[in-house]
Amino acid sequence: MSTDSLTAEARRENAAMLAAALGTDLESASEALQFGVMITFDPADATAAAVADDLAALLVRTIATVTFGHAEPNTALEVLIGRVDAKTSLPSLLVHVGSDAAVIGNDPEQQRCADIPRILCLLIACYTAAATMRAVFGARLPFEAVLPQRISFDQLGIDPEAFDASVALGQAYLAGAGAIGNGFLWAARHLNFTGILHIVDDDDVSPGNLNRQIWFGKDDIGLSKAECLARLAQGEFPGLKLTPRSYRLQDLPEKSDGPWLPRLLVAVDSRRARRKIQMEFPGEVFDASTTDIREVVVHHHRQPTRGACLSCIYEADQEEFTREHHIAEHFGVSVDDVKSERISPSAAHQIAAKVHGVEASALIGIAYDTLFKQLCGEGTLRTLEGRRVVAPFAFVSVLAGTLLALEVLRRAGSGRNSLDFNYWRVSPWHPPLGRRRILRPPQTGCEFCSNPVLSSVNAALWGALPAATSA
Ligand SMILES: [Zn+2]
Repeated sequence: MSTDSLTAEARRENAAMLAAALGTDLESASEALQFGVMITFDPADATAAAVADDLAALLVRTIATVTFGHAEPNTALEVLIGRVDAKTSLPSLLVHVGSDAAVIGNDPEQQRCADIPRILCLLIACYTAAATMRAVFGARLPFEAVLPQRISFDQLGIDPEAFDASVALGQAYLAGAGAIGNGFLWAARHLNFTGILHIVDDDDVSPGNLNRQIWFGKDDIGLSKAECLARLAQGEFPGLKLTPRSYRLQDLPEKSDGPWLPRLLVAVDSRRARRKIQMEFPGEVFDASTTDIREVVVHHHRQPTRGACLSCIYEADQEEFTREHHIAEHFGVSVDDVKSERISPSAAHQIAAKVHGVEASALIGIAYDTLFKQLCGEGTLRTLEGRRVVAPFAFVSVLAGTLLALEVLRRAGSGRNSLDFNYWRVSPWHPPLGRRRILRPPQTGCEFCSNPVLSSVNAALWGALPAATSA
């Protein structure tokens, strides 16, 4: 498999991410990604084959070539999954899957893999992809990732029987058909969700999305993300109807003053977009986000809650403030324009007047962050304000989508909605740790929960908190 399916724009996104991580320039980052990985496994070992398939699907979006069972001249690493002998003398990365944990690294115990739930094969593939980058780039990556790594399935906190259970979603909405929305359905196809999922996104697939939006290919460029995702994924979801909605969530025609958003999965691409979504008064929120390739955050709350809301978790911070001012200055528009997220017709003319070589008509409706990524030199992307708009690698977005699917399974599947945490930070470079799941209280000064008018509307929609002290 080669990355012929990637566009030049998608390759540039990958190079920009690596340049930001390594602190190098775009050209050398681009060259550094021109390596291949060879995957070796026993085809009779179903778990090993599943991990190999998923690993290939992730890596082919990031590096130059992925091969099964043979090396190419550019192959830098052989990944061995399960009980197999190395076919080359290249550096190798060993993956072993047991019934309670996977070990990534130089595990001497090369056994046939255990039978595990299919979605966990994908989880292991995400961590193996990270370990692959670590094996190739070593200490140049600014993450302390020690191999071997043990991914213990009990850290997920999900009962083994739950993976096979049917999970009724009812009428649910997925906000965002981008990288995390793609990753969510890529993972959720291995679970048994039923009901209706409205896929809400008003954006089209662009050439620079193909590095991480794992369902999409070149043929989808220019088409509605919501429609493409529903069309491509539906065949994998016999019990879940995927309904494409090419809208922004806040513009959906069924929006009302009543409780119209009972269950919402949040996979949008900015902190500000998440705060705007909170203003739609969702009843129950499942949310996952990425901070470039450093971290994944999983958040859940159900109203009425004593814990944090989306606006608490994604409060405006210094980095966002700095970046928005920087973008406004760079494009010759006001900060309020940038805060509106999409480029308006009048702002498009201002930008075209300021920035050489861009056509106003081509800018209307584009996200400021997207244009910023396209136009800024790599020097800007390495600065603090640029770093967060760099798109993560496919395995990070898919890890976020996988953890989002597992969170829905945990809550909607078990009926245990009063679990005592609402926030989980997970690193792609370290095994997930259950003890990092915490209950975050509301943030003082939150633009949603600290606003008495919004709070009373929320209570009218979803009920007031009981006097008891439980969350
Ligand atoms: Zn809040």
